[in-house]
Amino acid sequence: MSFPHTPDLRQIPSGCLPADRIRIVLSRTTHPGNIGSAARAMRTMGLDQLCLVAPETEVTSESYALAAGGAGILDHARILPSLEEALRGAELVFALSARRRAVDREILDPRAAARMICRAALAGQSSALVFGCESSGLSNSELDLCGYHVAIDADPDYSSLNLAMAVQVICYEIRCAFLAVRSGALPASDQGTGEAPPASRCADGAEMAAFGRHLEEVLSRVGFLKPGTGDHVIRKIRGIFARSRLTREEVNILRGALTETQRTLDRAEKNSRSPGD
Ligand code: SAH
Repeated sequence: MSFPHTPDLRQIPSGCLPADRIRIVLSRTTHPGNIGSAARAMRTMGLDQLCLVAPETEVTSESYALAAGGAGILDHARILPSLEEALRGAELVFALSARRRAVDREILDPRAAARMICRAALAGQSSALVFGCESSGLSNSELDLCGYHVAIDADPDYSSLNLAMAVQVICYEIRCAFLAVRSGALPASDQGTGEAPPASRCADGAEMAAFGRHLEEVLSRVGFLKPGTGDHVIRKIRGIFARSRLTREEVNILRGALTETQRTLDRAEKNSRSPGD
């Protein structure tokens, strides 16, 4: 059965409804069936960019059986060793998690996130949606690399959806957001609501991750972060920058300041080692 009013998002020229600017990232997935079911969920909603980060299973015949019409998505899935790699080129990064976490990020429901993703895509920016592994979900260090937290409202006594079902919910909302823009029900840009991505290019997830590491290195070196107790503090600091939606240029300036700090420390250390020079 087909619905004449629901276009195949992949057939629409990019610049109109660019599904290629939305990627689903599954981290450390353990069950091959879940990878297949996630591909099917994506296919039914017109999305096709799948990244598997350090999967703990191969893509097997079971994956293909459960992917059904989404088999092509599995054929083209990118398999990457680290989450940071998977976030290259993604200016907006959303962590999917049912639980309140140590990492405090703005919490969005799937509809609000989907609208942001849709508008960002129309403005030329890419989004990544990051899903955790079946047994333990996303780790704090994976959450550190994400700018927003998306929680699917569910029964508080048991709010953990199956991985592929969580993918289905968010992909459905993304499709609804695109269709709402197409029909004119949702403005394509959100000027005035404070939700819009900045006009200049945001730093991507990989650049933010590298900046976070650089900052941690320098703050540890000057003794601000103490071994064993600094995790909580650096997490908070990373959160401040995640909320700020930094542009690439701003990240470069901050990294320049960190590099200069490192040079000054190097010089001071060298001088203290050889006082006679
Ligand atoms: N046992 C894990 C849940 C794993 S479910 C835990 O306690 O965290 C696999 C993944 O599906 C999660 O990492 C998350 O990305 C997604 N997910 C499941 N339920 C969700 C919900 N209610 N809201 C947002 N994401 C959810």
